[in-house]
Parts: sequence; C-alpha cells; structure tokens
Amino acid sequence: FIQLDTCWPPVSTMSVKVNSAFASALLAFGLLLPCQLGLPTTRNQGDRLIVFVPTRQAQLDWLELIHSQAGKPGEVGENVRFWFGPGLLNQETIVFVPGGDYGRLVSAIPSSQDTYSWWTVQKENLGKLVTRETRANAVRRRSSDISSAYRTYQEILNFLDQTQSTCGSFCSVEKFGTSYEGRDLKLIKIGDDLPSKRIIWIDAGIHAREWIAPATALYFIDKIVQGYKSSDSTIKSMLDNFAFYIAPLLNPDGYVYTFTTNRFWRKTRSAQAGGCYGVDPNRNFGYHWGGQGTSSNPCAETFRGSSAFSEPETRAVRDKLLAIRLRTISFITMHSYGQDWMVPYGYAYNVSVDNYAQMMRPVQAAADKLKSLGRNYDIGNSAVVTYPAAGASDDYAASIGVPYAHTIELPDTGQYRFLLPQSEIPRVGLETLEALKVYLGYIAAANQPRDE
Ligand SMILES: [Zn+2]
Repeated sequence: FIQLDTCWPPVSTMSVKVNSAFASALLAFGLLLPCQLGLPTTRNQGDRLIVFVPTRQAQLDWLELIHSQAGKPGEVGENVRFWFGPGLLNQETIVFVPGGDYGRLVSAIPSSQDTYSWWTVQKENLGKLVTRETRANAVRRRSSDISSAYRTYQEILNFLDQTQSTCGSFCSVEKFGTSYEGRDLKLIKIGDDLPSKRIIWIDAGIHAREWIAPATALYFIDKIVQGYKSSDSTIKSMLDNFAFYIAPLLNPDGYVYTFTTNRFWRKTRSAQAGGCYGVDPNRNFGYHWGGQGTSSNPCAETFRGSSAFSEPETRAVRDKLLAIRLRTISFITMHSYGQDWMVPYGYAYNVSVDNYAQMMRPVQAAADKLKSLGRNYDIGNSAVVTYPAAGASDDYAASIGVPYAHTIELPDTGQYRFLLPQSEIPRVGLETLEALKVYLGYIAAANQPRDE
C-alpha cells in the first residue's frame, strides 16, 4: 500500500457512501485516506524541525539574523519560525522550517569549524506525523468519551452545552467574549455560584497548537461534574469550598486553523501589518507589556500585538477577570509542553510576587503528587523555570490581586512536543486533576473564608 498525500479518488466521485464504522476500520488500517472523510491531509507536508546548538558566537549571530528575517520577502528566514530561542551559547534553538524553505535555509547555514555538526534535523517530515495523528483522531473521535480524542471547536461547544443540559442549576455555560473571526469564547461555571464562593479560574488553549491543554480542561469538566453527580467525597469537598470557572478554549480561531491549515499555529488569527497574521495572546496582557521575551515583528511567533490588549480574546479574559477579581482565589492557565508548574512574575528575571513562598506551598504539594504518579514537574518562578516573557496572563492575574496565579506547562518534555498522542489524554487528565485536588486542599486549609 502506497501512502498518498492526495485524495484519490476525489470524495465527490465516490459513488458509494461508506458506512461510518466500516470507514473507521479502513482508516485505522490506512486503507482509507482522511480526506475521504472530509479531513484535511495537506497540512505540514515536508515541513521540518531543526535543532541548533550554537557553540560559537558567529553561529548565535547567524540564528539571530535568521530570526530577525521573519516575514521579510526574499530573505532566507522569511517563513522560518522559532519555537525556542535563539537563547544562549550551548542552548538548544528549535526552528520550524516549511518544506519549500528547507533547501535555501540549509545551504545558508554557516559550516561548523568543529568536527561535529551544530545542527540536526529532528523531524524529517512533520506532515507525515500530522497525517498519522489525524487518522488516529478520526477514529477515536467517534467515542462518546470526551477524553478519547482531541476535539474540534464545534465538539467542544457541543460538549459544554450537553454538560450544562445534564447538570441543572449546578453548572452553567457563559459566553464571555467573541474571537477576532467571530467565534464564541465560553466558560462553564461548576458549583454554587454564590457571591461568597471563592472562584478557581482555569483556562486552556490560548496557544492554538497546544492541544493537550484544552483536552485536559475538558477532562476536568467531565470528571468534576461526574464526581458531583456520583457524590465523590473529594470532588464534593472541593465544590463546598470553591466554584470553578473553566474556559477550555481561549483562542478558537487559532485552534480551528491548526485543524484546517497548519497544525503548528500558535497565535491568534488577526490581520497584521506586512501581511502576517496573529498576535501571541500570551504576550498581549497589560502588565509590563512589551518587555522581555516579546517581539515587535508581526510575523514572529511571540508578536506582542500593536498595544496591550489589542486582541478581542485577551480583552475578554481581562474583562471577565476584573468582574470576578475579588472572588477569585486562584488563576490557572494551561499550556504545553515542558512539565512545569510556575508562579509569577515572569516578565523579567529577579521579580517575584510578594507572597511567593505562600504561593509555592500548594505548588510543591501538587508537584509531589505528580511525582508519586510518575511525572516530574519543575516548579518555581516562571522566568527562572522557562524564560522571561512579558505580557503573560498569569502575571496580569497576579497584578490585579489574585492570590494564587500559575502557568502550567503540561507534558511532555520534548519527545512528542505538540503532537502528544491522543492515548495520553486520560493519563495527563487524571494526574493533573489529582495534583489539582491536592493543590486546592492546601489553599482551602490556608485560606478559610473571612467573616464578612
Ligand atoms: Zn503556550
């Protein structure tokens, strides 16, 4: 069997409408192409990932040059996108190279004066991996278990509505904004939404390609609601103490784009100067906006936007947070990858929240729980654990007085990067929820309700 990247015969000429279970079986064995089920197949064909490790200043300078060329017509770095770096000497820089730009980039790489090469192609053809993921996902999406697959935007909305319809007054879905392209930004409130109840804010999917984050948020929603219905004692006590506001998908335009066009899209999809698209929404919040780890180049992956809160998605989060600020005790935003549980501030080195030690106690407990489940997380100040990045949402939440604020980088640590297999969703969901339970137990004990 020869694997084709094009759809043949074309869907329109297929005379027999295939039965869906039969189609799933064919798809699983590679006998039916995803495009024959109406799924895109051309995403990321020939795209590669190159890892550079500069050991000489000239190499680092060259990486900086290529980085500066994002979006500049005719330049070698025009379409090359930096996933990580360039940072320091001897540090990995991870670069995404579209298929059509590979030859030109490779011939421009300065040759090494050393006996070893300073760069390697880490993924030969990302398109092949994306097609494989699409196939597996198409089969698994037929399961009614929300955590069996990576879900589309529409499936996520349907799930929220279905959940609401089965849990009566105990949960409610709220639209709190509209994306640049007009999609709904929704959150689900779980628990008694009384003015006296402290709120745990959890969001995901602010970066489009980090699919495990929305999947984990959906897992949380599913298990918390199920736990309530079945009178699970830990879930019950969590809900005695807190109301959850969970927004599983903050960047729906970018997310849809990862399904249709480029699996590795990160930003929003707003039109920008110079013909490029999107703002990095996690560099767009209005606290030390424009600082370290952000770019003024609209074509760069970390483009901060033309001003703080230039994006409707970040404005919606800001407005909702400001409205519930006094009730919100914890703000958690989920990303991938890296396995880090972090604490503000991340806008620069050596800046910390006043209550850092207090904020770290439940984080340490969560990390211990994760470790007991076989998953090692790095914890601490976000600039130290990863890198300085100004304009992030957790910094903003801390700046408006939310007592606990965190960015969580979900698994893995780099084997699959953004293409974590669907089969990992239940494990990541389970372990992160177990860690969250421990984390919230600490917060509940340390922050008994004040007498009003
Ligand atoms: Zn992210």
